[in-house]
Amino acid sequence: MGFKVSSAREKLEVDILFVGAGPACLSGALHLKNLLENHNQRVPSAEKLEVSIAIIEKGKDIGAHILSGAVLDPIALRELIPDYEQTDVPLDVPVSEDMIYYLTGQKHFRLPFIPPSISNYGNFIISLNRFVQWLGKRVEANGIDLFPGFSGTKLLFEGNHLIGVRTGDKGIGRNKKPGSSYEPGVDILAKAVVLGEGVHGSLTKQAIKHFNLDQGKFPQIYSIGVKEVWDLPSTSDIPGQVIHTLGYPLKHEEYGGGFIYNMGRRLSLGLVVGLNYKDPFLDPHKELQRLKTHPLIASRLKGATLAHYGAKALPEGGYYSLPKSYFDGGLIIGDSGGLVNSMRLKGIHLAMKSGMLAAETLLHGLLEQDFSERTLGIYSSLFKDSWACHELYKVRNFHQGFENGLLMGMLNTGIQMLTGGRGWKDPLGHCQGHLKMRKLSEYSTDRSVRHNSIKNGEAKSFDKVTSVYFSGTKHEEDQPSHLLIADPGICQERCAQEFGNPCESFCPAKVYEIISDQNDQKKVLHLNPSNCLHCKTCEIMDPYQIITWIPPEGGGGPNYINL
Ligand code: SF4
Repeated sequence: MGFKVSSAREKLEVDILFVGAGPACLSGALHLKNLLENHNQRVPSAEKLEVSIAIIEKGKDIGAHILSGAVLDPIALRELIPDYEQTDVPLDVPVSEDMIYYLTGQKHFRLPFIPPSISNYGNFIISLNRFVQWLGKRVEANGIDLFPGFSGTKLLFEGNHLIGVRTGDKGIGRNKKPGSSYEPGVDILAKAVVLGEGVHGSLTKQAIKHFNLDQGKFPQIYSIGVKEVWDLPSTSDIPGQVIHTLGYPLKHEEYGGGFIYNMGRRLSLGLVVGLNYKDPFLDPHKELQRLKTHPLIASRLKGATLAHYGAKALPEGGYYSLPKSYFDGGLIIGDSGGLVNSMRLKGIHLAMKSGMLAAETLLHGLLEQDFSERTLGIYSSLFKDSWACHELYKVRNFHQGFENGLLMGMLNTGIQMLTGGRGWKDPLGHCQGHLKMRKLSEYSTDRSVRHNSIKNGEAKSFDKVTSVYFSGTKHEEDQPSHLLIADPGICQERCAQEFGNPCESFCPAKVYEIISDQNDQKKVLHLNPSNCLHCKTCEIMDPYQIITWIPPEGGGGPNYINL
């Protein structure tokens, strides 16, 4: 940061450190605790293991940064907590009706059947945010230390072995100098570090680069999910109804679709958009607003009021994009490890399972007293033998099958289902999503259709600033920007001409604005980092790859409720 730290940096030692209190790490920590208890009951006193486990989380509370659709497949929950049905687990409502519609601008057509591999019967509509809060309480009750409000900013190494994580400093001013409330971050040293910090995690990126974990893999590709929660005027008579949509408002060349989940008193409404689109003016937030103008969706929002808003990227490259997930001193799990089934639009059960497999690996490490790559490598074989890997393998070419549009995607999906995921070519292959974006000179698009067709307030639509208010996002204002632009000159000149500054469109929180400078002489990039939802879309979709997202001061960011 360009200054000397005056106070000594504290060191904290734990045996196992999990980074990120999402479903992956919480399940991993709880399963490890259970495994240790079982082990200790079976062995004589001298062989019992006393293990300290800690979890750090950048959100101000457990669940504050957690967002998903979400329809939960309880398969991993059943393994983690076999008697979950006898607990107060917040599974809002079982799925009662499962439908897929194709939408045109005004009409809708219901698909005649849903293949069993993507059927949601037997699953539950949940708020992942509340589910994680519930899991967090169980974790804490089992003696695991949870530290919300602490972001991991740097991996610590001894030679080539990961030995811990440095948390972010607090109280650094916008001028990058320590203020009166300055507190240096803590060095948390651990025998093993498990990275489950969500999609495109900052520490995960460091680990992948340091250990070359993506060598020989296809690049990761992503989607963004933008979501709203609506309070209904009265209890719905169709609780448990799950609707997925294809088509409008997206173009056929674009990957994605809508979802609407009925939780009785609330509706979850969202749109997923593949972050490998061509149109530089595509704006996922505005597309969600356009989705609400469709009669099928509008009819379900009658009398409803907006309660919450959020956005998050999700990894969709699948099996062929999974990084090597073990290395000297650590493991990668959950969304950080790319574990999402894009055909089912589900990752929570995979995240939970990966955390549990990490726990089994860590127990092995604790017994061997070795956390080198050699020992932690059993994670790979445990994963390969698990239902999680088998599930991902069957959909290994799904998202890639849509590279040439919706119709080809549907055809590819059919062939892949008949051939166990192989399709007509295996692997289908793909490139990084931002490379798909076309320059203005190469792409004809009518910006007015996508951007100006809805006014604020009309058809229950909102502008981005209003939506951000419903995310509860807050950051300490007096801190350096957590969005680093390597060369703002590129934004103002080259990008303005070549792509028309797509950052203004793809960011779902109006963090990026191109405005006139003080003398009204030229356009400059203006950042509103305090709006940031931590979705990571800008890092992923920036055509020049000059944006780096670093964790802001711990505790800042969205304050998601019921999302
Ligand atoms: Fe998402 Fe980047 Fe916008 Fe933050 S600045 S909301 S991470 S796109």
